[in-house]
This record gives sequence, structure tokens and C-alpha cells, in this order.
Amino acid sequence: MTTPYKHEPFTDFTNEVNKTAFKEALAKVNETMGRDYPLVINGERISTVEKITSINPANKEEIVGTVSKATQEHAEMAIQAAAEAFEEWRYSNPEERANILFRAAAIVRRQKHEFTALLVKEAGKPWKEADADTAEAIDFMEYYARQMIELAQGKPVNSREGEVNKYIYTPTGVTVSIPPWNFLFAIMAGITVAPIVTGNTVILKPASATPVIAARFVEVLEEAGLPKGVVNFVPGNGSEVGDYLVDHPKTSIITFTGSREIGTRIFERAAKVQPGQQHLKRVIAEMGGKDTVVVDKDCDIELAAQSIFTSAFGFAGQKCSAGSRAVVHEDVYDQVLQRVIEITEDQVVGNPEKAETYMGPVIDKGSFDKIMSYIEIGKEEGRLVSGGKGDDSKGYFIEPTIFADLDPNARIMQEEIFGPVVAFSKAANFDEALKIANNTEYGLTGAVITRNREYIERAKHEFHVGNLYFNRNCTGAIVGYHPFGGFKMSGTDSKAGGPDYLTLHMQAKTISEMY
Ligand code: GLU
Repeated sequence: MTTPYKHEPFTDFTNEVNKTAFKEALAKVNETMGRDYPLVINGERISTVEKITSINPANKEEIVGTVSKATQEHAEMAIQAAAEAFEEWRYSNPEERANILFRAAAIVRRQKHEFTALLVKEAGKPWKEADADTAEAIDFMEYYARQMIELAQGKPVNSREGEVNKYIYTPTGVTVSIPPWNFLFAIMAGITVAPIVTGNTVILKPASATPVIAARFVEVLEEAGLPKGVVNFVPGNGSEVGDYLVDHPKTSIITFTGSREIGTRIFERAAKVQPGQQHLKRVIAEMGGKDTVVVDKDCDIELAAQSIFTSAFGFAGQKCSAGSRAVVHEDVYDQVLQRVIEITEDQVVGNPEKAETYMGPVIDKGSFDKIMSYIEIGKEEGRLVSGGKGDDSKGYFIEPTIFADLDPNARIMQEEIFGPVVAFSKAANFDEALKIANNTEYGLTGAVITRNREYIERAKHEFHVGNLYFNRNCTGAIVGYHPFGGFKMSGTDSKAGGPDYLTLHMQAKTISEMY
């Protein structure tokens, strides 16, 4: 019997012992910088001449590591290896598969600070955000392992006299996992282990900005006892290797988290039945968000300001759950705005390796340029009240930036920026606030700050988002507590870390026997 699931606690970095331990982990990880990681196909290490280089976004000079870069030939080899391994893995004991996840979670937990330190280096995450990312990776393994043990029992169905009916879940096939760089450990691990524990085999194509943590995780899975060919590590270009894997007739599932643009591209390509393909592909897609914190006049102003601040600027706003819009009742608008500016300007922005840093850099040059161009658009559309400057001389740093007085249809109120920029809009009443909150093509997360019970109940029905929060921030979903995924153009509403998630990777089978 396993113990009941409980989420991994966060590290208290105000505790000096933890602080010292984490500094030591950072120093240790420093020594691993620049290591080279090969492809892993059918358990074989393959080193290529061409590489993908992972750099520290806080210090462009520092190479975190290099990984081999796959070609289409490698992608083909990986598909064949995964298809072959599937023929055995599909019949493996679900409990044994779950045990591999439990062991992998234990391995990560034992070197938790070192993994977290690597996230600080590879994605520029401040300590707290990086620690939460590692905790969530552990959570996915612990949660899905338990879910699989439960699911292995099947679900009850009725039987008539002389008949025994069973309803069970069976594995589906070769899965292509394409994770994002923002939750470089958690989501990467989650969308790798969910297909594995359900009896599928995986080709993991890591995010090009953060491939090192993925290479390390594949090592963890091997150490935990995963047989060869069940996970294959294939870093490469989206247009070359990504499309090839998605289009392949032997691919059964594509699980993706990333931009709306790439998600819809995958969705369309996966719909096309290729010559030799004997099934319809499934796509699990988690895409963008343009998430809103709604503030009613009857609220705790400090809580409202803190909620907006945390939602907007945690990990520099680089979350699809980020609250990049604040819609505030006109009676409290000036007060809330003023308080958010004060909190924001009180934070340390800079080197994420320092304990006191609240916000580090954005991920790369492409993001930096895109966010800076949105800041220019914001200056035309609204009133810049805080931040607005960027500096990419050493790393990709952008100040937390606040715009006020936006028209709800302004571009910075509608388009996902994926950076530290929040736009404020004024609402005359709660009806109008809800209407604005729903006026985007996305439907991922949202928060409402109010003491009004009637408004809470109304928002439960009328605020169309996959994750709705009251009197708190709209980021930071916890596995097993807040299953995560969105409506509309935010994706397939496949709730990661939720009770229905694993079945998305499986085929239900009805078995009826007459006695
Ligand atoms: N699950 C994360 C949260 O609740 C966001 C995931 C993402 O950005 O892709 O904040």
C-alpha cells in the first residue's frame, strides 16, 4: 500500500540552513556547466556534430550545456525504437510502472536542491520559483503513479445474468512529448511520465532553450529502472524534427505545452491521416493564456494588490497562467493601482542566483525583443506607470512593467505577451468587469477578488476559464489540488495533475464474457 498523495512541500529559504544548502547546490551545479549530452535512442547514446546550446539567460556568456541535435533520420530511429518497445511495455504490470515513477521521484528528492539550482541556471528562475518547479515535477510522478494504480482496476459497469462485463483501460501507443521551457522540469516531467506510466512509449523532444534538465531527467528515469526504448531523447528543430514526429503514421499521441501558434499547427497536422496510419491521433495541448485578475469594490485592497502583483510578475510573467490583465472596479481602481506600483518597485530584479532576487531575466533574445515591442505598443495604447525599460547587455532583463487605463480591446489587453507586463482596465461595475474578463480568445485562468458572495457565485458560472480562483492569485496550481488546463484557444482542457488526465493517454476497452 502506498501512502496517500500529498504535495511536495516548498523550501523555506528564510531558514539559514536551507539557504546555505542551496548556495552549496548552486556551487556544485556550477561545476557541471558546459557538459555535453547525447541523444538517447533505444538506450543507445548518440553524439552528433551539430549541437543545441543552452545558455544562462541571466548571463549570456555562460553555457549551461550542449545537447546533440537530431536529424529526421534520428527521429525515424526513435519512432521505430518506441514502436518496438511498446510491444512489450504495453503488457507490463501497471504497478511496476508506477514503482518506476516512485523511484524516480525519490531520486529527484534526494538531490532536490541540485535540480533546482540547474533550473536557476538554465531558465533564470529565482530560487522560490525554481524550487516550486522541482516540487511540481516530484508531484506529477507521485500523483500519476497513484492514479495509475487506481486506474488499473478499471471502472465498474453492470453485468446481466450469466454475463460478466469489464471496463478497463489499455495503453495507446507511441507518444511524442513536446514540453515548454517555462516549467522546464515540472511540465517536461509531467508530459513524459504520464504516457509512460499508462503503458505508452515516448519520444521526448525537449524545448530548445532548456534541454539540459530534460537530458538529466532521462538519466533519472534510466536509474529508476525504465527499460530501453520506453523513453527516447531527441532534441531538434520544430520544423524539421518536430513536424516529422507529429506527422509520422506510427505516432498515436502528441502531448504538447507551449504557444497557441505551435499548438494549433500540431493540432492541424495531427488530424491528417497519413498513408499506412491505422488510427486517429490524439492531441493533448496546453497553449496560451491572457488571464485576468478581477477586483470588485468590496474587497481587501492589500490582498487585491498582492494577487495582481504575484500573478503578473512571478517568473517574469512567463507562465501561461500569468495574470497579465487587471480589471478593477472604478471605486478602488486608483488605490489598487497605486499599491501594485509600490509593491512592484520594492522588489529586487536581477541575478536569480542571489537569494533576495524576486525577478530574473526573460528566457532569450526572441522573447526579450517581443516583450520590448509590446511595451512600445503599450505606450501608445495606455499610460506607463512603472518600469518599461530593458537591458540585454549581460542577460535578458526587463523591468516589471505596469500600464494603466487600457481599453479592454487594446492589443496589450488581448495578446499574450509572456513577459513581465500587466495592463489595468477600469470597470464601472461587476457586470462590466466579468464581460471584460471573458473578452479574449483564451480561457485558461482567472481570479476574482471580492467579499461579495453573490458575485462569487455568479463568477463560478459566468467566468469562462479552466482554472478559476477566488481571493488569491491566478498562478501556482498544485498537482492533485488544482488540476490545470484551459478552455477556448488555451487548449484541449486536458487537466494536468487531475483525476481524468491519465485516461487521455489510454483506450477504454469493454470486455463481455458469457458464462
Ligand atoms: N501550472 C502553472 C500555474 O498554475 C502554469 C503552467 C504554464 O505556464 O504552462 O501557474
